[in-house]
Amino acid sequence: MTDVGDLVPGPRILLGPGPTMADPRVLRAMAMPLLGQFDPEFTAIMNEVMELSRFVWQTTNARCFPVSGTGRAGLEAAIASLVEPGERVVVGECGRFGLLLIEIAERCGAEVAVVRGSWGRVIEPDAIRAAVAEKPTKLVAMIHGETSTGVLQPLDDIARIAHEHDALLMADCVVTLGGSDVAVDRSRLDVAVAGTQKCLSCPSGLAPVTYNEEAEAAIKVRRTKIRSNYLDLGQLADYWSPSRFNHHTAPTAMVYGLREALRVIRDEGLEARFARHRRHGDALRAGIDALGLSLFGKEPAQHRLPFITPVIVPDDVDELRVRRRLVDDFGIEIGAAFGPLQGKIWRIGTMGYSARRQNVLTCLAALEHVLRAEGVKSAPGAGVDAAVAHYATSGERATAVDDSLGARGIGRV
Ligand SMILES: *Cc1c(COP(=O)(O)O)cnc(C)c1O
Repeated sequence: MTDVGDLVPGPRILLGPGPTMADPRVLRAMAMPLLGQFDPEFTAIMNEVMELSRFVWQTTNARCFPVSGTGRAGLEAAIASLVEPGERVVVGECGRFGLLLIEIAERCGAEVAVVRGSWGRVIEPDAIRAAVAEKPTKLVAMIHGETSTGVLQPLDDIARIAHEHDALLMADCVVTLGGSDVAVDRSRLDVAVAGTQKCLSCPSGLAPVTYNEEAEAAIKVRRTKIRSNYLDLGQLADYWSPSRFNHHTAPTAMVYGLREALRVIRDEGLEARFARHRRHGDALRAGIDALGLSLFGKEPAQHRLPFITPVIVPDDVDELRVRRRLVDDFGIEIGAAFGPLQGKIWRIGTMGYSARRQNVLTCLAALEHVLRAEGVKSAPGAGVDAAVAHYATSGERATAVDDSLGARGIGRV
């Protein structure tokens, strides 16, 4: 056998569309001794996770717990549990994750009606209205943050339209929870699903979900059994309730990690956290502009994800070689793209613990260097200068978390 040595992963600055860098507090929590899943100490931790989740989801829903598995497990649990074979699901699709919802709904045996938008734009509420007006619909499924294109979909009007037509609204908030406003109750989302490895800055492995009484009632009145045992939201809800129904063995270390990630958000405060994501995204975009690069997408700022910056690959530049050199020479990971955008854009994520000033400045310096080798010229230091100028003039003071991280010797965010 070859000599398998100690595990020493190279240091990386993760600025792709996920995973993000885990907060050191989260990694410390995950290294704590394990508890059995029915240990009273662990069930108390489960209750704390639900309470903290309600704060981050901005909801009073009783059902607010994580599904074991990545974000897509949460999406599949929601659709498989809510929709019976033959029922109609309207999916808004304007990117890769909309395509995923279509695929999951089809596998659940739904009659899927797709409202297609163009990649890089939001879906217009009127298009959803036309689709739900056609035929009785059980569920409208939308992507809140379309990570593949950088679009932030407004949901309030779509929720109203869905409810006027007696349909439930499900939102994929995998990329938005913890980074921009996800107000489940105010936006009247019936079901919302997230993931841990984006703005929550935890490793991947849990999918926080929440749903209201209407969604719960829809699960209870099903005529057919939910086809998945593992992703049966009714059984999972019983496990995450005082009845402690025995289901799968909870990944307790992940639950520790999620608890800490939610505590980090509680300590920072929702508004301060959203402002931090906007500040670093804006600084990055100021730098990208100064490097002479263009952003993908035509939506105005309020319909763009503040923390996913889609950058058009300039003509005659080898997009893969640029990403390779960023990793090899600078330890920086940025994202590629899918489908029609493959090879055409990069996606730079500034989410959660990755959303920090030093990461933004380092990324801009590295990009300038790597792009120069590809023949893209810009004034030396222009990207970093523009970002620094943005920080100086953005008018927002360092948030409490900046200070607390500084005090802990972790550095400014
Ligand atoms: C990342 C992502 C997913 C998939 O999540 P996994 O954790 O990779 O399963 C789904 N939807 C959106 C919008 C995402 O950004």
